Amino acid sequence: MQLLFKLQIVLHWLRFRCWPGDPASRAQLEARQRRALRKLLRWLRRRSPWYREALAAAGGDWRRLPVMQKRSFMAEFSRINTAGIGLDEAYALALEAERSRNFSPTLRGITVGLSTGTSGNRGIFLVSPSERARWAAMMFHRVAPPRSLRKRRLAFFLRANSNLYSSVRSALLEFAFFDLLEPAEHNLSRLQAFQPDLLIAQPSMLRIIAEAQLRGTVAIRPERVISVAEVLEPRDRALCARAFGQEIHQVYQCTEGFLACTCRLGTLHWNEDLILLEKRYADSSRTRYFPIITDLTRRTQPVVRYELDDLILPPEAPCPCGSPFEAIGAIEGRLDDVFLLRDQAGALQTVFPDFIRRALIQADPAVEDYQAVQTGPDAVTVHLNGPEPLLEPMIGNLGALFQRMNLTPVQIRPGGPLPPQEGRKLRRVSRIWTPQAD
Ligand SMILES: [Zn+2]
Repeated sequence: MQLLFKLQIVLHWLRFRCWPGDPASRAQLEARQRRALRKLLRWLRRRSPWYREALAAAGGDWRRLPVMQKRSFMAEFSRINTAGIGLDEAYALALEAERSRNFSPTLRGITVGLSTGTSGNRGIFLVSPSERARWAAMMFHRVAPPRSLRKRRLAFFLRANSNLYSSVRSALLEFAFFDLLEPAEHNLSRLQAFQPDLLIAQPSMLRIIAEAQLRGTVAIRPERVISVAEVLEPRDRALCARAFGQEIHQVYQCTEGFLACTCRLGTLHWNEDLILLEKRYADSSRTRYFPIITDLTRRTQPVVRYELDDLILPPEAPCPCGSPFEAIGAIEGRLDDVFLLRDQAGALQTVFPDFIRRALIQADPAVEDYQAVQTGPDAVTVHLNGPEPLLEPMIGNLGALFQRMNLTPVQIRPGGPLPPQEGRKLRRVSRIWTPQAD
């Protein structure tokens, strides 16, 4: 790795850690956010053709800028980004990287990544070397703070490697990338040989490792286990905590940025020094919300008032850790992960995934590895890796839930074992049917 790049990581890390360090109070945090936002808006006016026009149309008021979603964000990709990169050339590079599984080429020095779309809606993201350095420094600072000068081994399970991640190689860290497309047994034996100090993987993979650890086919003793990419469910969290003998940390990050991570008490907090958070409430009681984020640091591909399709639940009580960053109670999965079913009056009703999950796991303590898929307007399939007789009470519970919600009868079918999830994020509750606009 180039010396200059390493130096950048160290400089960013010193800023996060020592000067100015983490904000001590909400007031200090908000003052910093305002400063960072002014800088971002100046940059947008100068460098982003799309935002120059949008800001002019909004009379300079960022709150009146349009809220973006993946579709609109991609439609304006070429004029939003400040590196002059076209969508076609970016796609071509990202697809070629996926095909060849060589993720090192860049476009005019810019790393191009492809995000996993949940509904075939794929996104492209761009990151410059200095943004990569900042990201790596922030990860060190928040997720894997060094405790000594001893070199640590980091095992990272990923759907696809990317420059973004391989940048974390340094004198203090030995980094091993594990490809999720490889068979699990292969990865497990590599992991056993590698003996990581830090283990980073998505929950569905952590689960496989935890089960192997409990069986004794793998014996590793990581000092920290970090869950990324998917929603970590309480059940998976408990299993992993038991297998590794520690609290499981979480990083909530997506192509749109490093959004949140757990504090020392295991509570997720938004990284509000990096992002500005707005909320679109999903219910009339104003509890659950879809986050609208503005990334205060990214410049190559500005992320401004970008709405995520993750549903956030606030915590039941404030986190006692004292962080000025707002806490997250739970991440409810993707927008696709709500079921849309008709009530007796024929109107579409949303069934939140936590209700579906609860109904299914409450059928039997042995229900662990399952998936419920809405396949049509009134059709749901339930998959289970486990004893088949369990499917009957699961289906019964789900039917009872729908009845309680006064929905029209739904056909719930047993679907056998989980379909292969290779290269995709696992969603316990998924909807592959989309209502047509009437
Ligand atoms: Zn906390």
